[in-house]
Amino acid sequence: MLKILISKIVIPSNISDYLSRTLIVITVATTLLIGSVLIIQQTLHYNKISKQKSNEYLENQKIYIQDIVKNELEYIRIQNEIFKQNINEEVRNNVTQAFLTAETIYQKYAGIKSDDEIKALIIASISSLRFDMEYEEVFISNLNGTGVYYPRRPEFTGKNMLHFKDANGSPVVLDEINLLKSKDEGFLSFIINSDLVSESSPSKKTSFVKKFGHFNWYFGSKQYVEDYFPKFRNEIARKISTVRFKYGGYVFMNCMDGSPIVMDGAVYMGDLNLIKNTENIRHKVFMQELEVLKTNPNGGFFYYQWNKMNDSIPSEKCSYVQLFKEYNWLIGAGFYLDEINQSIKDQKNKLWEDQKSSILTILLILILLLFFEGMIISRFNKRYKSDFERFFNFFYSSKNNFNQLNISELNFDEFRRAGIAANEMITLREETEKKLLEEHRKAMESDRLKSAFLANMSHEIRTPMNSILGFSELLESDTLSEKDKLVYLKQIRKNGDMLLNVIHNIMDISKIEANLLSIRKRPVKLSKFMEEIGHHYMELLSTRNDKDILFKINNEVNREVSIQTDETRLRQVIDNLIGNAIKFASSGSILVDVKLESDLLHFDITDTGIGIPLDQQAAIFERFMQADQGDKINSGGTGLGLAISKNLVQLLGGNIQVKSEFGKGSTFSFYIPKG
Ligand code: ADP
Repeated sequence: MLKILISKIVIPSNISDYLSRTLIVITVATTLLIGSVLIIQQTLHYNKISKQKSNEYLENQKIYIQDIVKNELEYIRIQNEIFKQNINEEVRNNVTQAFLTAETIYQKYAGIKSDDEIKALIIASISSLRFDMEYEEVFISNLNGTGVYYPRRPEFTGKNMLHFKDANGSPVVLDEINLLKSKDEGFLSFIINSDLVSESSPSKKTSFVKKFGHFNWYFGSKQYVEDYFPKFRNEIARKISTVRFKYGGYVFMNCMDGSPIVMDGAVYMGDLNLIKNTENIRHKVFMQELEVLKTNPNGGFFYYQWNKMNDSIPSEKCSYVQLFKEYNWLIGAGFYLDEINQSIKDQKNKLWEDQKSSILTILLILILLLFFEGMIISRFNKRYKSDFERFFNFFYSSKNNFNQLNISELNFDEFRRAGIAANEMITLREETEKKLLEEHRKAMESDRLKSAFLANMSHEIRTPMNSILGFSELLESDTLSEKDKLVYLKQIRKNGDMLLNVIHNIMDISKIEANLLSIRKRPVKLSKFMEEIGHHYMELLSTRNDKDILFKINNEVNREVSIQTDETRLRQVIDNLIGNAIKFASSGSILVDVKLESDLLHFDITDTGIGIPLDQQAAIFERFMQADQGDKINSGGTGLGLAISKNLVQLLGGNIQVKSEFGKGSTFSFYIPKG
């Protein structure tokens, strides 16, 4: 039951309903499909973009913290340069001061005092020099490697120091002498204590040496970097601790040996060691930092849990860390992912708002599209329904009439084509029906004609027969005079001829219809032929008291002309036509015109008789057909004369026609070939 109901809804029995429903279903489905595809596409696009944006944002954030770290490293590098330059300046100043003092003394006493006296004066004045740091000093050595004056190591005086080596095994004094071989002064550095594990630089010693050529001496001064280093480190730490960036970001700084320098955005003052103190939660993160640097010596990112500055709950953090190699400092900065996530969420929300508006636009367009599609479908429905309707009406109405379908009113080509075919069918049916009706009419007419023919025939036969029998009976009487007998015999003869004529006519039409009538053409002298006809009818009409007719033959053809035809049949046609003219005219004239035009012989038989109605002029050439000429006196006849004449003329190679005006007369014209 339900199945039937569903199938009725889905496939209705009505074609136009079916079409419109199918169209609506297809349109709605297509629109929904396109809409869904567009919306899915938009959503996918949104997901892709938002993911892309998240990644981009994360990447940007990473680049951002990386830049911050790199900036700080650059700052440290520059500060370190300055720091080292300052130390160098310090030692150079010390040496230069000593050198100038010595030079002044030398210049003053050279040539006055002995070299040894001058040397002693120089050493004395140098030993009295005071420097910034307590331990600072200027030493004097011979360029051959023997010590001259070492303020804190008097035992070096006169001692060959060429074998002196630093913590790394470099020959310190030899290096100094070698340097002064090529130039007058220069810096050198060496390691004095290899025990220091971290911040290796402070174990460095920087020295400046300057040649004092007068005694083959050189002055030198050494500076312990570590003496200046804590100050330098604190300055760096202080500066780094002030760095802040978005979402509560700060820069941290640790030494690879595990001592924190800047922690949670502040300079660390305690004595925590992140390597040794494994209990501390920061230990794990520090080890992670070391691990990152092991795999990425030029810096890398790592993820971990860390408390925010003013928060005790740990949050996911991503940090970048890079090593300042010279002092084994780890410089890093990070950002909290949840802060980023919030920002990404904000961005995503904005993106989603945009997406929502484009989805709404799509939906609006789809609704508009559906609306327009609906309009188009309903217009289409209306049009083809009207076409269907026209067809139905046409078929219903064509049961009873032959009305044509108005093609121009149809809306679709297919219907128009079907309409043309239907109209052709109607035309054909109309023609066929007309033919059938005509056939029927003809059959009826033929039936009527036959009855009329039989009636006429019996009249035509009976009348002369009665006369023949009547006069024969009268002839039997003995009291008849010779004159009467002659009159009676003439009557019998006349009626016999009439009877024979009827019989001939019947035989002729039978032969014609059976295609048995043959034509025998012979030369006929036209003038003679026409003259005979003229004589015959002049004579005949002179005997007819009932006819007051002027008979005339107008033969325009040259007297010598001889034609090739069947004289008997030609005569039969002319006799028929003149006979009819006499029969249907009681007064007036009968004119026979004969002329030759381009080898065709034309005959016109014109009478001033009763004429033939226009609508019957074609029918009179059919057999048994007699025109309805109103109150004409029954002229007798069989209705065969003209049918025979027409056939004979055609057999002779010509044609016949009539022109007539009812009540005024008729002209029967025919032509035959000359030969
Ligand atoms: P019939 O004269 O024996 O009736 P036809 O075939 O010769 O047969 O003529 C057919 C009919 O044509 C006539 O019955 C008559 O109605 C008409 N008809 C023929 N000739 C004439 C004419 N000259 N004038 C008027 N009607 C004519």
